[in-house]
Amino acid sequence: MVAGSLTLGASRYLPVPRVSAPSAGSAAPRYNRCGKSGCRCHADPPQLHGPYFQWTAKVDGKTVNRRLSEREAEAYLEWIGNDRRLRSLVTEMRELAKQATDLILEDQD
Ligand SMILES: [Zn+2]
Repeated sequence: MVAGSLTLGASRYLPVPRVSAPSAGSAAPRYNRCGKSGCRCHADPPQLHGPYFQWTAKVDGKTVNRRLSEREAEAYLEWIGNDRRLRSLVTEMRELAKQATDLILEDQD
């Protein structure tokens, strides 16, 4: 656990870290039109096919797309949420550390 003033700021996050695997990238539902004229996806109003889930992320500087099953999509959505929470926690802790640093350095004057 982090010592001193950082503990106060971090303590409200304590219920969260029941964290399973974090994942970068995004996964959003997509709806498509197919090529068959007369299909319901070309009707008025159109009933598009889907939802299809696709995971998109940067891996080694390249954009990677991967089609996901419904079950995979559920897992990825949770992992991506974990990743966002971890990153915002790190951002918050850096901000608190900066404030703590300023206070510590002021005290030494
Ligand atoms: Zn169609």
